[in-house]
Amino acid sequence: MKKIIYIDMDGVISDFDKARRNSPLCNTSPYKGRPDRIPNIYKDLEPIVGAIEAVNKIMANDNFETFFLSTPPWDNPDGWKHKRLWIEKYFGNSARHKLILTARKDLNIGDYLIDDSKFRGQQKFKGEWIEFGSKKFPDWQCRFNLLKLNFLINI
Ligand SMILES: [Mg+2]
Repeated sequence: MKKIIYIDMDGVISDFDKARRNSPLCNTSPYKGRPDRIPNIYKDLEPIVGAIEAVNKIMANDNFETFFLSTPPWDNPDGWKHKRLWIEKYFGNSARHKLILTARKDLNIGDYLIDDSKFRGQQKFKGEWIEFGSKKFPDWQCRFNLLKLNFLINI
């Protein structure tokens, strides 16, 4: 049976933090402290270094079924659309129907969750939460840790 792997977007494959830092609105009212509300902030996010290549390899592996699992900005409905378009831009048709938007990641059943945050149910996820950005799994270049999952043996 295929293992199910969920991959978070912001901070894992899309560089929301860079867009926030570069936005002239991020320190102005009403966006200070709420960068997720900045108009079009989710549009044209740059990929995290190495993410596209690594995720393409995971998606191409027949042992895994891959989904993107992201919490959308409730107060910024355009962000929902931009997440969907971002996934298509970088992963094309193979990502069709593979995007799940939720604020309760623990409710999704699966084997692995690659995620940089702990505030959306990640700690209660029934599979293994791989904390992206942690010492153990700092970035997509750290292949030793990817090998632990046995899905990038041939990287
Ligand atoms: Mg994240």
